[in-house]
Order: sequence, then structure tokens, then C-alpha cells
Amino acid sequence: MTDEMKWDIIVIGGGLAGLTSGAYLAKGGKSVLLLEQQGQPGGCCAAHVSGGRTIPAASHLVNDQELVNGIFRELGAPEIRFTAPDPVFEVTGPCQGKNLVITSNRELFEQSACELVKDTNREAVKQGLGRLIDLSMEIYHETRL
Ligand SMILES: Cc1cc2nc3c(=O)[nH]c(=O)nc-3n(C[C@H](O)[C@H](O)[C@H](O)COP(=O)(O)OP(=O)(O)OC[C@H]3O[C@@H](n4cnc5c(N)ncnc54)[C@H](O)[C@@H]3O)c2cc1C
Repeated sequence: MTDEMKWDIIVIGGGLAGLTSGAYLAKGGKSVLLLEQQGQPGGCCAAHVSGGRTIPAASHLVNDQELVNGIFRELGAPEIRFTAPDPVFEVTGPCQGKNLVITSNRELFEQSACELVKDTNREAVKQGLGRLIDLSMEIYHETRL
């Protein structure tokens, strides 16, 4: 008789990567030990409670909800219902009363960015942002194929 325990796999870290790979390995029939140094799992995606408020540690946005729920379906876990706030958020910078508005409304996004710079730079900012948005959309569509 021995107290020694044997595992097929030991996963170090209970962030998204460790939790997902650990869950897939367990579903594939492996015995898995997952070790997390913090008091809760989630890593950068965990939330912390402070002063009665729940504060997300890092992640706020999920770009591909179908990808996430596809993983949950494969693992037999309940799916998450996502909401799409718009504007997504406002970034407060050094210009008092002027925020960068992150929104799907391209005109509003460009307008809020232009208000943060001097008149003489507005056209350049608008053009640069236009190129950035077009390129981002291209990458988004190409990588979804
Ligand atoms: C500021 C910020 C904002 C972000 N915003 C977004 C966003 O909006 N949308 C998005 O999709 N992604 C976002 N990301 C990226 C996303 O959060 C990460 O890509 C993802 O959470 C990383 O997961 P991970 O499991 O690889 O690592 P982590 O989440 O870092 O998990 C690693 C885990 O391993 C544990 N660990 C480390 N060493 C040990 C050890 N020796 N023993 C035991 N445990 C250990 C840690 O405690 C931690 O829990 C953001 C990241 C940051 C930093």
C-alpha cells in the first residue's frame, strides 16, 4: 500500500490554456492533475472581488463567441450567453472630457479619435484609422475562413 498518486498528465497553471487543455485531456481518457498557484482558476480571465465590486483582471472582450461555445459544447459544459455592448468602452486619456470611444460605429470612433488631436493632425489620424480598420476587417475575415 502506498500514498503515491500517479497521473497521466500534470498541467501547471489554471488559466484558459491550462483549463482547456486539461479538460480535453480528461475527456480523452487521461487522468489529469491541474495545479494552480492562486486561490482560484482563470488566470488573466479570473475576476477579483474588491470593495463589493467584481473586477475582471484583464480580459474584457471575446471576439469569437462561437469558438468559445464550440469548445464548451465539445466538452459537454453549459454554453455562455454573450452580450454585445456598444460602445464597447471609452478610453479616458490626458485630454479632459474627451474620451476615445471604442464602438462599431466607425464615424463615431473616428470622430472621437480626431477630437483628441490638434486640428492640423485630424485628417492624417482619420486616414490612418481608416487604413487600420480596413486592414483589421480583412484579417478578421481571412482568419475566419
Ligand atoms: C491586460 C490584458 C487584457 C487582455 N484582454 C483580453 C481581452 O479583452 N480578450 C481576450 O480574448 N484576451 C485578452 N487578453 C489575453 C487573455 O487574457 C490571455 O491570452 C489568456 O487569458 C491567457 O491564458 P493562459 O492560460 O495562457 O495564461 P494565464 O491566464 O496567465 O494563466 C496562467 C495561470 O498559470 C498559473 N501559474 C503560473 N505559474 C504557475 C506555477 N508555477 N504553479 C501553479 N500555477 C502557475 C497562474 O497563476 C495563472 O492562473 C488580455 C490579457 C491582458 C494581460
